Amino acid sequence: MIKRYVNDFSQNTYLHIEKGDAVLIDAAADVAAIKKDLQEASATLRAVLLTHGHYDHIVSLEEIRKTFDVPIHIHKDDEDFLHDPGLNLSKLFGKAFVLGTDAHIETHTEEDTLTFGKLRVMIHHAPGHTRGSTLFQIGDALYTGDTLFKSSIGRTDLPGGDEHALAASLARLKEDLPEKLRIFPGHGEESLLKAERRDNPHL
Ligand SMILES: [Zn+2]
Ligand SMILES: [Zn+2]
Repeated sequence: MIKRYVNDFSQNTYLHIEKGDAVLIDAAADVAAIKKDLQEASATLRAVLLTHGHYDHIVSLEEIRKTFDVPIHIHKDDEDFLHDPGLNLSKLFGKAFVLGTDAHIETHTEEDTLTFGKLRVMIHHAPGHTRGSTLFQIGDALYTGDTLFKSSIGRTDLPGGDEHALAASLARLKEDLPEKLRIFPGHGEESLLKAERRDNPHL
């Protein structure tokens, strides 16, 4: 089961639940709503998986990790974002997001598979939007953050952005991943990898 929460930045945070185990993809949703959905599904949150470190994806990260006491997974190259309001862009919005020093951070680098209870999560490093941008594949769901949107792609003009790296990441995504995957982007509506291969001018 997949729950989507849309915030004031039009950002999508997702709760992915399978047989009592859950992970949160990005962390910019209302804690009460997440709690309610976990309760209704009789599920336990096992981890927060961050597609990257921008503020619109981590707005409620502090509250979430304190409430649920779960580890935060992020790519090594985006870890700095969690401690730097300039890098995570919270400064632009008049905030100063800095993660508490007691947070449990787990970093990943390239391809990897993580297990959370009954959930298996495949990690695909996809630099371009940021250096540490990551896609998470769980079953037939692919969480693409700000790398791939329905009919569009992420911007590369922010700190750590690189249009050539993004083009290479998208080429890998297009060639290596099964087209039956459902796409759950960081902004906008869901799609299918098959449809994006056909309709997205950037793929
Ligand atoms: Zn972003
Ligand atoms: Zn975003």
